Amino acid sequence: MKRDVLVLGAGMVGVATAIHLVKRGMAVTLVDRRGAGEETSYGNAGLIQREGLHPYLFPRDLRSVIEVALKQRTDADYHISSLAAVAPFLWRYFRSSNAQRAAQTFAANVPIYANCLEAHQALMEEAGSTNLVAKRGWLRLFRDAGDIPAAERQAKELRDLGLGADMISMEDLNELEPHLRTDALEGALHYRDPWNCSDPSALVKSYAALFEKLGGEFVQAEIAGVTRDGATWTVKTNGSELKADQVVVTLGPWSKRMLDVVGLKLPMGVKRGYHEHFKAAGNAVLSRPVLDSEYGFVIAPMARGLRLTSGAEFARQDAPKTPIQLQKVLPRARDLFPLEESLDAEPWLGSRPVFPDMLPVVGPAPGMPGLWLHFGHGHQGFTLGPATAELIAQMISGETPYADPTPYSAERFKGH
Ligand SMILES: Cc1cc2nc3c(=O)[nH]c(=O)nc-3n(C[C@H](O)[C@H](O)[C@H](O)COP(=O)(O)OP(=O)(O)OC[C@H]3O[C@@H](n4cnc5c(N)ncnc54)[C@H](O)[C@@H]3O)c2cc1C
Repeated sequence: MKRDVLVLGAGMVGVATAIHLVKRGMAVTLVDRRGAGEETSYGNAGLIQREGLHPYLFPRDLRSVIEVALKQRTDADYHISSLAAVAPFLWRYFRSSNAQRAAQTFAANVPIYANCLEAHQALMEEAGSTNLVAKRGWLRLFRDAGDIPAAERQAKELRDLGLGADMISMEDLNELEPHLRTDALEGALHYRDPWNCSDPSALVKSYAALFEKLGGEFVQAEIAGVTRDGATWTVKTNGSELKADQVVVTLGPWSKRMLDVVGLKLPMGVKRGYHEHFKAAGNAVLSRPVLDSEYGFVIAPMARGLRLTSGAEFARQDAPKTPIQLQKVLPRARDLFPLEESLDAEPWLGSRPVFPDMLPVVGPAPGMPGLWLHFGHGHQGFTLGPATAELIAQMISGETPYADPTPYSAERFKGH
């Protein structure tokens, strides 16, 4: 049986893509070796970051570079044994982390972030999962008053776009989060527009159930490779061969590996990250996620407990777990909120798929008609999945896309 489209990978990005295609009347098969939303889209901090337009830059001031090199920071760390493997990506990321490129990424982010809440809302309502998402914004906390002016400048750029991003007083902070300890803090920024999900995997699974309800087919199988014969693409799995005229790669951090084999070399890297759940002491409650600006961790309230997430670790995707960043920030997290014992047997590890300019790739594979690329959303794939899914579905079906897709094209890496 030949399908219209095969979507490879059922994380937030793949599931949302599959829904948008099936809604356009196509016969769509979604393939994953696991259930939907059980990898990166399971382990994130659950933030739907309407405010997340500023790219995460690699630190370029000498002091920060030395601190990273000496492994003195908790927001960024690396494996010495992986350095040769990750150095080409790191160098490109370092070079892209300048003011001019950051401004271009910000501008390119405007239309897709403008759509991120609406795109989730439409799916949540249809899937019956609005109960998984709270609409209270999130808080960025500052221990060093010296970090506030730069954050304020970015907040002003968000306010210029009509978003709510304001410094609040310690009294207001206490009112919003009465169990947060504020003695170590010099300030707090409240992003009012973002949402947060209490169970990211359950949200993706609810979208996957909607996809099947709309007539889509889910196949659980390990994808071994992709080949083309004329206008037909064949996806080899451990059990069978699936055929279609169009294939969308939504394999998140595994996308590069699959595409290297078909000869499409893209400069994608991964920023690994960890999480662990903790019990709150007594009746302490956290109503919205908080980010510690100095140490780079998030504490996010989840159905399972308080999820502590780490910053970035640069290492081969398949290198062993080293949750040192989590261990180092745990005492700092306890300065802020009364976390008791861990609820997990061991920390979870995942990989954010990232490009040097911190923009995803959304569009056709250069020189490979029928092959589409949709991955590399970095720190914000949970946020952006449904918004960029709508964009790529419009491109595949020949509609006018709601945003100019040029900035997300894989062509941008040609000659660089
Ligand atoms: C610690 C951490 C915190 C984060 N916090 C946030 C946040 O708060 N907000 C936010 O927006 N984003 C956040 N992110 C980023 C976000 O989680 C990712 O950008 C997003 O989940 C990527 O989704 P995806 O669908 O592209 O990839 P994935 O969810 O990883 O999906 C890829 C799928 O491909 C499948 N697959 C891979 N290889 C094969 C194969 N050979 N055969 C079959 N199937 C295969 C996998 O099983 C998987 O289901 C965070 C990430 C981390 C690590």
